[in-house]
Amino acid sequence: MTWKISNAELSQQVLLNMESIFALGNGYLGVRGNFEEGYGADMSTIRGTYLNAFHDVIEIPYGEKLFAFPDTQQKLVNNIDAQTILIYLGDEEEPFRLDQGTVTAHERSLHMDRGYAERMVQWRSPDGKEIKLTFRRLVSFTHRELFAIQVRIEPVNYNGPVRIVSTVNGKVTNYTNANDPRVGAGHAERMKVIDTDVQGDMGYVVDETFVSKLRAACVTRHDLSTNADVQLQADEGQVTYTASFTLEEAVTLTKYNLYTDSLRHGEAIVEQGTRLQESLKELSFEQLLAEQTAYLQEYWKSADVVIENDAQLQEGIRFNLFQLLQSAGRDEHSNISAKGLSGEGYEGHYFWDTEIYMFPVFLMTQPEIARQLLLYRYSSLDQARARAREMGHKQGALFPWRTIAGTECSSFFPSGTAQYHISADIAYSYIQYYLAEQDKGFLLSNGAEVLIETARLWAEIGHYYNGAFHIDEVTGPDEYTCCVNNNYYTNVMAKHNLKWAAKSCAILKDYNPAGFKALCVRLGITEEEITAWEKAADAMLLPYDEALGINPQDDTFLRKAVWDFDNTPKEKYPLLLHYHPLTIYRYQVCKQADTVLAHFLLEDEQSEETIERSYDYYEGITTHDSSLSSCIFSIMASKIGNVEKAYEYFIETARLDLDNTHGNTKDGLHMANMGGTWMSIVYGFAGMRLKESGLSLAPAIPQDWQKYAFRLNFRGRLIGVSIGKDSVMLELVEGEAIAIKLYDEEVRLEPGQSVKKALR
Ligand code: BGC
Repeated sequence: MTWKISNAELSQQVLLNMESIFALGNGYLGVRGNFEEGYGADMSTIRGTYLNAFHDVIEIPYGEKLFAFPDTQQKLVNNIDAQTILIYLGDEEEPFRLDQGTVTAHERSLHMDRGYAERMVQWRSPDGKEIKLTFRRLVSFTHRELFAIQVRIEPVNYNGPVRIVSTVNGKVTNYTNANDPRVGAGHAERMKVIDTDVQGDMGYVVDETFVSKLRAACVTRHDLSTNADVQLQADEGQVTYTASFTLEEAVTLTKYNLYTDSLRHGEAIVEQGTRLQESLKELSFEQLLAEQTAYLQEYWKSADVVIENDAQLQEGIRFNLFQLLQSAGRDEHSNISAKGLSGEGYEGHYFWDTEIYMFPVFLMTQPEIARQLLLYRYSSLDQARARAREMGHKQGALFPWRTIAGTECSSFFPSGTAQYHISADIAYSYIQYYLAEQDKGFLLSNGAEVLIETARLWAEIGHYYNGAFHIDEVTGPDEYTCCVNNNYYTNVMAKHNLKWAAKSCAILKDYNPAGFKALCVRLGITEEEITAWEKAADAMLLPYDEALGINPQDDTFLRKAVWDFDNTPKEKYPLLLHYHPLTIYRYQVCKQADTVLAHFLLEDEQSEETIERSYDYYEGITTHDSSLSSCIFSIMASKIGNVEKAYEYFIETARLDLDNTHGNTKDGLHMANMGGTWMSIVYGFAGMRLKESGLSLAPAIPQDWQKYAFRLNFRGRLIGVSIGKDSVMLELVEGEAIAIKLYDEEVRLEPGQSVKKALR
């Protein structure tokens, strides 16, 4: 049961949310869960198909544009629409539509173990003709360009003429909402059709974006299980396939849509799509489904998390892990956007969400995808260098706060560009990768360069004051407190970054002296510079308040008045939609975990007591208006031993989109939170940490649970972890013997053996 998300509702609000929930994707191509026939005329829909990283460039309009504000930004484009299949019954051509006639049965399901979505509708036309339709659709994990839909039409009481009209439409627009800063406000139309034609049994549409001049093609082929009068024609930006037949027994139509684009497939995108179509001709829909199942079996083997006796949470965690897999870009052009490939919220941009909230899941379950995400950032290192120069820094790399193609897309700098911490977050993910995989070759080829260039940024923007190293005028993760001096999070992450830049030099000098020397020559690294990084790290100011015994979020945070929570009614949240930013900045009020997050990522920087007191303090003033917050509070509640509190926060994260608790699931899924659910379990309840000392666990179990289990993919091993009421079971499922730490004891895992220890 918990491998399947099901829903039968047909109300407007639910349908919009379900478009995101039932979205299918494979990291390259994403299709929202729209109905093939559309909805009623007066209902709204966000009909969407996206190719990861496929964007147009739009101008950013400013009233007052200051120096180095970005002129343009990228926007994920809603792509060619191949979802439409219309069905007409009888000589009078009654259209199948849910707002007319009677729905006698309806259910849709997302099969997370088999990688497809299914919709069954039994429908009686106004004239009494009753049929049963089963739509199944998949976005292939093994053939990244392929989106296939199959519809089976069965007579219930109706035998007679049927006409199917299936289209591929190149005239598409993006969704906009001028009143929500989390969604694009304008520029709905970003593509024009430049070619549409029919070749043999295939039809294609080619679109081009207005400014970036990227091209996408959709080459489509249909397969009908019965003899019919079939027509295929191309006109007005659309390919139309029409089939007319008499319905006597079940008939199946399968529509194979292949998407290619000029980012990945060069100029000959139609030829490529056609060639791919030819190569897939022998594969039936059932075979495609079998491939999906095989792919997912491999995925779930390392990624599944089992929660016994709680079907709701079980469903939530699996759904989140499934959507993460569907969203992660697998090439140098793409990453994971804040909404994955499920919607247009945040305009398809990539943020720090990837490195801090999603990368850890892939690192410990699918390291290959994690590596790919690192390579994406590496590919934009030159742009980050250029941005640092533009921002007036003589050295270093400043990664953009939000981007698709590598340049800064943030127009509101206080909670955009000012979040310099993204550079340290990216560095942190490279360090975590090294700690997990110990891949010195990768450190030499890619990692060290990123660590060094980001360390140089801190060396450049920081300065000494009274012997301490200060970083001024930045914004930490909490977007309700902007442009401050010595944000604890930024400083401690920069410290780690600086330290590891120096450390990676030491590692590489030892590992490959010639290679390291070449790197030094290429990047102009000197011994003095390395010493300066170490010195700045050691002298880094980490704000501490003696009276409260906590780390203040920044130099002046604790001097501000506390937000008047008692007199802020529920409907005024999220605050960002109801108060001017300056009003919010003036108070102690946090949108999301900031110092508390720093205490999770770098827990050894402070005493347990400071961390606990800080947790209590910030909990009282955090609104969790960002979906990136609850999971961190869950992890940290676990750390300080408050498992029940951790559990409450965990529940917030696990079903956030399934239950639409943030009210904007229609704009796309909250991907960072999805990673956060896994983190709340693995880093939170199970206390997993990855440090220089290796991999460790310190598990606990929430009262409501009997047992939970997950696996870790670590240095070529697959380690099974199962936690019950009184014991922890560790098992080496694959790979050679390895030692890990359980609480503070070393446990050696041998192939095929399991070790049982008492739960503390
Ligand atoms: C959060 C950011 C996040 C962005 C995209 C904002 O609401 O405050 O931390 O990166 O959403 O998810």
